[in-house]
Amino acid sequence: MSLAQQTALYTDNALPVSGGPARRRVCRPVEVRWGERCVVIGGAASICVQSMTNTDTVDAIATAIQVKELAQAGSELVRITVNTPQAAQAVPGIREQLDRMGIDAPLIGDFHYNGHLLLKDYPGCAQALSKYRINPGNVGQGAKRDTQFAQMIECACRHEKPVRIGVNWGSLDQDLLAQMMDDNARRAQPWDAQSVLYEALIESAIGSAERAVELGLAPEKIILSCKVSGVQDLIVVYRELAARCDYALHLGLTEAGLGSKGIVASTAALAVLLQQGIGDTIRISLTPEPDAPRTTEVVVAQEILQTMGLRAFTPMVTACPGCGRTTSTYFQALAAHIQDYLRARMPVWHDRYPGVADMKVAVMGCIVNGPGESKHADIGISLPGSGEHPAAPVFIDGRKVATLRGERIAEEFEGMVNAYVERRYGNSDGNAA
Ligand code: SF4
Repeated sequence: MSLAQQTALYTDNALPVSGGPARRRVCRPVEVRWGERCVVIGGAASICVQSMTNTDTVDAIATAIQVKELAQAGSELVRITVNTPQAAQAVPGIREQLDRMGIDAPLIGDFHYNGHLLLKDYPGCAQALSKYRINPGNVGQGAKRDTQFAQMIECACRHEKPVRIGVNWGSLDQDLLAQMMDDNARRAQPWDAQSVLYEALIESAIGSAERAVELGLAPEKIILSCKVSGVQDLIVVYRELAARCDYALHLGLTEAGLGSKGIVASTAALAVLLQQGIGDTIRISLTPEPDAPRTTEVVVAQEILQTMGLRAFTPMVTACPGCGRTTSTYFQALAAHIQDYLRARMPVWHDRYPGVADMKVAVMGCIVNGPGESKHADIGISLPGSGEHPAAPVFIDGRKVATLRGERIAEEFEGMVNAYVERRYGNSDGNAA
């Protein structure tokens, strides 16, 4: 069969090529409130981004400043550790400072070992927090576990706060795991140890949620997580967790690691699950590089969601990697400059220019793919490669509108981006003018 015949057959019988993420898993929506602000996790709400501070909570000023930075970077919820009486005492002051600064992101309290005491002894802390994270592996040993877990849930009920039951395999309930290993040994065909571990993680999360409901906490106040540090393990555990319950799910690869490893591992794991419609809020647990801002984890979380087409936070720049056709790094610097500029403008643009977060900008290095990629963007520039005529055509909505030359290409392109944003998104409905 000739190529022409094959093409005709394909054209006649083919179904359209399509794709995209699976429909979101149906789950109960959970409202996390502070004042007028209500962040919904699950249900029909967009997948939300959260983060965690690494300041000493006792240092209320440093913690409030970091929460502000994370919130301004786009973190819709911010978690702080509440590990000592002094930290619990500091929480209402942190909340007040944030309120004074106009930061209404709800605060989540992270509790381990002594949460039952801190929530009881410091009602101001219990009230200032918008959600509690309880790790069922760290609420107490032996007979105390159930009592202390119940005390925390009763406190959540009293203050009408939602709870994340956050299991972590580094602190899995060892009594539960030992019991399940014993039970497994009595099976006719015992499972391997890894499968029992997966089951223990899931059982710890769902069993704890069921106990919380028995204690009076509404299912609409419960979020679950089962964090592990291996990509394949996380995917296995969350697929199963998602299939067995209808609680909202918090996704995150725990202890993801430093730099590119942490980003790649988190992205690999979360992308698979998000593509399958699993996950209602995400946190990227990066180990910060020395001197790197804590806000990197927020940017990575947003970029995962945006590059997968699940949400839009800030206009994205498409840039080529460069090659031997361009010996200058000018286009790399311009691409970085434009991406930073767009991100920095978003706090103002977000309200003024609805829809601008979906804008696509291209900065390309030479004529090979430059004009084509630039035409696909809303606004794009194709810089001259080595040996090319020193001119940079600019494309808007697929049409060439200008050619920039000389020393001020960056400034002039930035000005054209600003003008495009004003023209296209300056009306209230976000449609093209
Ligand atoms: S657009 Fe040009 S400079 Fe950029 S990677 Fe492709 S060939 Fe190289």
